[in-house]
Amino acid sequence: MPSTNEFSIIEHYFQAKSQAISRTDVLRGIGDDCAIVEPQPGKRLVFSMDTLIEGVHFPQQTAPHLIASKALAANISDLAAMGAEPAWFTLALSLPEVEEEWLEAFSTALFELADRFRIQLLGGDTTRSPTLSITIQVHGYVPEQALLREGARVGDLIGVTGKLGAAALGLQLELATQEYPLSPAQREQALAALHSPEPQIAAGQLLLTYGCRCAIDISDGLCADLGHILTQSGCGGIIHVEKLPLADCLTPLPQDKALKMALTGGDDYQLCFTLAQADYQRLKEEQNLSELSIIGEIVTGEGLQLMQNNQTYHGLNTTTKGYNHFG
Ligand code: ADP
Ligand code: MG
Repeated sequence: MPSTNEFSIIEHYFQAKSQAISRTDVLRGIGDDCAIVEPQPGKRLVFSMDTLIEGVHFPQQTAPHLIASKALAANISDLAAMGAEPAWFTLALSLPEVEEEWLEAFSTALFELADRFRIQLLGGDTTRSPTLSITIQVHGYVPEQALLREGARVGDLIGVTGKLGAAALGLQLELATQEYPLSPAQREQALAALHSPEPQIAAGQLLLTYGCRCAIDISDGLCADLGHILTQSGCGGIIHVEKLPLADCLTPLPQDKALKMALTGGDDYQLCFTLAQADYQRLKEEQNLSELSIIGEIVTGEGLQLMQNNQTYHGLNTTTKGYNHFG
């Protein structure tokens, strides 16, 4: 790269690389005062934004490729939780200094994930600041219906995609707070879940086509995130903890510890959804459901109840809340 001013950074690391995905609904991408898109007719647009700040959301000296993929994946996960199809994103980057190696690794990882989900970078802002921070806004399409936190109905089943708890274990490994007798493969699985979460876009869209109207992505922990669904839908919920799909890497842990990670650990970025029984039956008959687990049901009342083999489960204080910045 010739010189390291703001414009050459944008051109070299972001404009050039963003052109690999050229969507037909983008009329102007990076380079003008604004981007111009022509949304596909008959669809609705959804937007979501997340910021990651060094020292708050990730430790200092975190590798740039991990920051990039986590920042974009967390945002795409919010699209998944609406049942949306990813379309575009914007990026505000504040850097303490310009390090070409850092920018190269950051942008390479960013576009690897962007390409995979066909989400095109449309613009952004690049500034110098004492603290590294990354803000991404994602844009996507939904049909007339979307998956909403307020969409749960009494009698619905509660389900989750994928497996739970691996990212929580990964975080404990990173912080080295505790030793566990893990195999190298189990360690790797836990760290990968923490650093490279896989947004559940296909599952969100599939659920939507089968009549599902309610989902949230699990970023703060299953209990906390399902709690948002219950509050906003005005109903209660029961989780049968023996039905929780525990990540394979949790097998060497004591059962209560593994369940706690699955129930309260953040960062898994799987979806928690609710679905009418009849819709679930149809989904089960027509699709390969190895990636979905039914873990409970929506009931009248309020709050979340944990059961184990139909007895109250006491292994966890259900007031355990997810991470709250101002708590
Ligand atoms: P302005 O001063 O008009 O805001 P900028 O110099 O900030 O223009 O940006 C020039 C172009 O580069 C715009 O298209 C903007 O969206 C894009 N851009 C700036 N920073 C980034 C970034 N980090 N990622 C992607 N695009 C960016
Ligand atoms: Mg600007």
